[in-house]
Amino acid sequence: MRLQGSCHCGAVKFSVDSHTPYPFMRCYCSICRKTAGGGGYAINIMGETKSFKLKGEKNVSVYRARIPDEKTGKRKLSSARRHFCRKCGSALWAWDPSWKEWVYPFASAIDTPLPKPLEEVEMMLDFAVPWAEIPSGSGHLHFRRYPEESIADWHKKRMLDVP
Ligand SMILES: [Zn+2]
Repeated sequence: MRLQGSCHCGAVKFSVDSHTPYPFMRCYCSICRKTAGGGGYAINIMGETKSFKLKGEKNVSVYRARIPDEKTGKRKLSSARRHFCRKCGSALWAWDPSWKEWVYPFASAIDTPLPKPLEEVEMMLDFAVPWAEIPSGSGHLHFRRYPEESIADWHKKRMLDVP
């Protein structure tokens, strides 16, 4: 499935092929909340880096968060690069050289109508703010940190990966 994305002011446009377009994963970590998550969370989907096309590259800025190391607690630069529009501030996509064949657009930046997930994952709940509405009940899987299933596995297991 070809996905078209853009920032709010239109200075940046991108497109990417995705086999995994369901926006099912809500991340409540502080980075997602502060940089993209007005509801207390942000949603990333996944596409293929090799198919990624970008217009307006000069208007794209990159944010790398400093996060505490699990063992030492010392803050270090995250390998994830969060890309956003320098003119309007829209969060656009994340990319990490550790998984360089994939790019992770924010669902909020995608203009193509995405399929609505029937199940959702709520993750990084250790970092959720008290006011965030966290849906629960059937169809909701909760994780204090990362879920066991990757975005690709989630789609495959439910036979939702798009050719
Ligand atoms: Zn913009």
